[in-house]
Amino acid sequence: MKIDLHVHTKISSPCSSIKITQMIDYARHIGLDAICVTDHDTLHGAILAQKIGKEKNFPVFKGMEINTYEGDFLVFGLEKDIGKPLSARELLDLVSSSGGAAIVAHPYRPFERALKDKVYSIKGFNALEVENGNTSPEYNKLAQSASFKLSLPGTGGSDAHQLWEIGRYYTRFDHTITSEQELVEAIKSGNYQAKTGASNVLNYNQEAVTNYSYHKEKINEQPVSYLRQLI
Ligand SMILES: [Zn+2]
Ligand SMILES: [Zn+2]
Repeated sequence: MKIDLHVHTKISSPCSSIKITQMIDYARHIGLDAICVTDHDTLHGAILAQKIGKEKNFPVFKGMEINTYEGDFLVFGLEKDIGKPLSARELLDLVSSSGGAAIVAHPYRPFERALKDKVYSIKGFNALEVENGNTSPEYNKLAQSASFKLSLPGTGGSDAHQLWEIGRYYTRFDHTITSEQELVEAIKSGNYQAKTGASNVLNYNQEAVTNYSYHKEKINEQPVSYLRQLI
């Protein structure tokens, strides 16, 4: 099962231009089986996306990208926003006591919001994002090396903020996942692989994706009916 674990929607990540209905149509179209909405510090967009996903019969799972003092984490299994700044330790304890799962987001991305070598001292997360769409390959490689040294699984996520970025990295799970609880268990299980590079998804329908890329300048301004014409 192919899931993009890291996507931002316009509705609650101001940095993103992705509209929910387009996100769902596009994800289905390029061959993803499900998508996780991980907006910054809030579930608001994810809750709405999940509702629309149900209407459109496409699985959307709720997550959040939480900015701790040490760096970003993708968290799953929390049912409400945290609403205050906190440390990685506080977040991981909260996720653990809520029965959730936590992934270190883009561990070695340069600049801020990345744990970097603190991945070796902070304990209690379940995986590292070893393929992140907003991180260059050399820094993703450092994350892969940390995942290997720590014997923790690696995930892939597009970190998409534009429609055509969805699916450029994703995680292939060995089993079918139908609920957030199952997603949390799956993340903890380690039975998955990060898929490196958009081409893994693009192969599904190269022509359609080329069309999307070609129209990328205007695609986010278009209604779903226009997208359907492209499909
Ligand atoms: Zn981030
Ligand atoms: Zn992100």
